[in-house]
Amino acid sequence: MSFSPAQVFAALNAVRPPDQPSPVLGTAVVIGGSVAGLLAARVLSDHAASVVVIDRDDLHVPGGRPGVPQGTQLHALLPGGFLQLERLFPGFREQALAQGAVEAPPGARRNYLDGRLKVTVPDDADSLAGSRPLLEGLIRQQVLRLPNVKTVTARAAGLVLDGSSVAGVRCDVGAVPGVENADLVVDAMGRSSRLSDWLADAGWERPVLRRMPVHLNYATALFRRREAHPEHTVVMALHSARASSDVAGAAYFAIEDGRWMAMMAGYGDNRPGRTAEDFVRRLREQFPPEFTEVADSEMLGEVQTYRHADSRRRDYHALRRLPAGLVSVGDAVASFNPVYGQGITAAALHAACLSAYLRSGPDLRFPARRFFELQRVVVDAAWSMSTSADLALPHVDGPYPRGYRISSWVSGQIVRATMTDVTTARRFNDVVSMREHPRALARPAVVLGALFANWRAR
Ligand SMILES: Cc1cc2nc3c(=O)[nH]c(=O)nc-3n(C[C@H](O)[C@H](O)[C@H](O)COP(=O)(O)OP(=O)(O)OC[C@H]3O[C@@H](n4cnc5c(N)ncnc54)[C@H](O)[C@@H]3O)c2cc1C
Repeated sequence: MSFSPAQVFAALNAVRPPDQPSPVLGTAVVIGGSVAGLLAARVLSDHAASVVVIDRDDLHVPGGRPGVPQGTQLHALLPGGFLQLERLFPGFREQALAQGAVEAPPGARRNYLDGRLKVTVPDDADSLAGSRPLLEGLIRQQVLRLPNVKTVTARAAGLVLDGSSVAGVRCDVGAVPGVENADLVVDAMGRSSRLSDWLADAGWERPVLRRMPVHLNYATALFRRREAHPEHTVVMALHSARASSDVAGAAYFAIEDGRWMAMMAGYGDNRPGRTAEDFVRRLREQFPPEFTEVADSEMLGEVQTYRHADSRRRDYHALRRLPAGLVSVGDAVASFNPVYGQGITAAALHAACLSAYLRSGPDLRFPARRFFELQRVVVDAAWSMSTSADLALPHVDGPYPRGYRISSWVSGQIVRATMTDVTTARRFNDVVSMREHPRALARPAVVLGALFANWRAR
């Protein structure tokens, strides 16, 4: 029986760790110990005798690190990702709060579009606010305390192949070359992953790399927070492509250690917030009045900037020839315009794909096609959400999918209805936080409900 993408997506969202570990392999090696690699390691710990996580950074050193240059930028944990983390690590919420993360239930979140406040969905799922190093550090603590997981500080340099299977990873510890043997290798090297090159060098096919240029400029700054318990802990203000502002949006979150973290983004030649003065001035002048409270606070440190050239995906599912014993997860497979905050949640869903694949009792002498088929559903869903919104930007010129005009008109109606109508906003939030498949928004009842809400609001 074949299932629709929406059914597969729902099943992945419901994946829970098994009650009992069920080992199907000896050693699994994960290359990359950031969020996607750690979540894969968590899943593998139920199915492998031992799990080795290789990273070029020492994962036992807390805080930000050079291997994750985006770590200084504001990271939102979507409610969908938060639910997944709580399933993988029972008690995650309490531990996060104990380490300073700040609760962000629906009533504490405010969302503006083009300067207008969106309606609140009172029964929406909760989330948490915290810095990226805090969130990654929490996940890391949970994974590294698992008895069958260990880390190796090394730079992975290539695959070891045995016929048509991957048998390990070549890695350099300092200048000393070594090998980590593996029954399954997981690429979690992030968006600059070298796996495609390694496959091509060894005579295998290289996956097609699809890119959508977005030329996004990010800037993040920290401020001292005066209130210990502010009423609103997550405030976001986006400007649509139609708005006259040259700033795409801004947000500020209450985070650990009594700080606000504020972010501002622009496209193309617009690089808001390159200096502290520019950052603060724009927060005051171009965003709703509550942003002024943050702008008037003491800035801690300097503005950190980051340039994100494109959204990109590597289509491993489409390869005709692929060695056995190999999968790829997280940004290494697909990384999106960060404005939509999908990366951590997508990585959690990739981990759910790995769990579903390993639980199906696969024959590891054959390529992990079932895994890549499941993952494709997640990547397609995230890609369609992110790129359909980006196609509306004036500097993005395709490629336009079939039916783009109609789908963009429908999305415009739905987004408009989310301003005033709780039912449409609830459905929309379920989709953008990756708890529901985007096709849920194309159902006639949802579209008609949005049209009616817009007519009523006129
Ligand atoms: C500006 C910006 C803002 C973002 N905001 C959000 C947000 O709000 N919400 C959200 O969910 N996501 C956000 N993201 C995306 C998020 O950062 C990633 O999706 C998330 O970190 C998962 O990525 P990953 O683990 O696949 O790769 P990465 O986090 O990039 O990690 C890759 C890891 O691989 C290691 N590595 C690479 N090569 C090697 C090698 N050869 N040998 C050994 N180790 C290696 C690196 O050291 C690193 O630890 C944002 C991204 C950017 C750029």
